[in-house]
Amino acid sequence: MGEFELISRYFHAPFANFPNVERLIETGIGDDCAVLAPLTGRLVISTDTCVSGSHFPADASAEMVAARSLGSSVSDLAAMGAEPVGFTLALTLPNINEAWLQAFGSQLHESASAWRIPLIGGDTTKGPLTVTVTVFGRVQDQCLYRHGASPGEDVWVSGFLGDAAAALPLLERPRASLTPLERQLYQRYESPQPRLKLGSKLRGIATAAIDVSDGLVADLMHICSASSCGALIDEDAIPLSSALLATFSQQDALSYALKGGDDYELCFTAPQSARNLIQSLSADVALSRIGILRRESGIAMRKHGEEVKLMSKGGYDHFKENSVT
Ligand code: ADP
Ligand code: MG
Repeated sequence: MGEFELISRYFHAPFANFPNVERLIETGIGDDCAVLAPLTGRLVISTDTCVSGSHFPADASAEMVAARSLGSSVSDLAAMGAEPVGFTLALTLPNINEAWLQAFGSQLHESASAWRIPLIGGDTTKGPLTVTVTVFGRVQDQCLYRHGASPGEDVWVSGFLGDAAAALPLLERPRASLTPLERQLYQRYESPQPRLKLGSKLRGIATAAIDVSDGLVADLMHICSASSCGALIDEDAIPLSSALLATFSQQDALSYALKGGDDYELCFTAPQSARNLIQSLSADVALSRIGILRRESGIAMRKHGEEVKLMSKGGYDHFKENSVT
């Protein structure tokens, strides 16, 4: 099978499912470039590369590679408050394995349909399995940046934290051996759910936002650095799923939630006066108020009224004691 047949068989799909963007895309796959009609508002763009053996296990299923590559990139759009417009796919394959391509292509289209983001172009080359996704989105008014937060504002997080990181050790086990609770954790890693609706509703309410891809503390630190402030987090307010708490000790669960990445929840800040408004947005996903921003730099956690410093500008300060090996 040649490159062109491969593209038309596995990657070419009509835009009929995407009435939101159909009229923006004048030409998709098939010409030298995709052609988009000029957008009103702002165009936001993000690109991410996933390399086999480093961003996903070398023996990961094709479905997992597709869902995670696209999901993690679409999550960046959610974190900006953007609406998806389209994405390109640069795919490097070691060989042409039709069963793999079939599974990858159909999961990619399933995820793309769920998030209403059409594939508008790409490139296909031979080499070690590598997937680069570039997402394009638009924001009609103002974007959610990492800067813009101020001392005194609340820190919020969507959903539950730590599940995806806790699933990493499970990836090596046969699927059939997992308990239903372990399977729930596994699913959080396998198919991230970008918080597109939430991100878009937070425009004009949140003062700063980021998606949690590297771990709550590391990602909140990005907001703090960009906004020139620090944060005090309440340990008891960190949202931990019942699946995580049933599978690990409280201490390990908390450590996964603070340090573990791959959850793709949104962490955002907002004035205290917006508390009721934000609670009213929690129909699709739970929202937890986990702490407060302050002038003093770095991130500290409050536990039984006592403060423990977790991260300063130089990096982690206090994770060794809590760490999960
Ligand atoms: P060119 O040589 O002009 O870059 P290509 O032969 O690489 O063109 O690609 C032909 C068409 O197929 C282009 O429209 C390109 O965007 C699309 N394409 C190539 N690979 C992929 C892929 N993996 N996914 C989606 N579209 C692809
Ligand atoms: Mg090309």
